Amino acid sequence: MSKQAMREETERLIKEAMERKAVTIKQGDTRIEAVCGRCGAKNRVTMAKGQSRATFTCKECGHEQMSL
Ligand SMILES: [Zn+2]
Repeated sequence: MSKQAMREETERLIKEAMERKAVTIKQGDTRIEAVCGRCGAKNRVTMAKGQSRATFTCKECGHEQMSL
């Protein structure tokens, strides 16, 4: 393998590792099913990593609230 090819291979591996890391961060987001306090409809809410609460607007009645 030539030096040029080795360098390209290394760059490719670094790029792949970075892409994997980006995916991992995305997977850190928590998806929860929050039940609307007004109408009881279930809403899919995406919560950022490290957060225990997320605000969402009910898809059924439009009531804005905070998930528990
Ligand atoms: Zn609702």
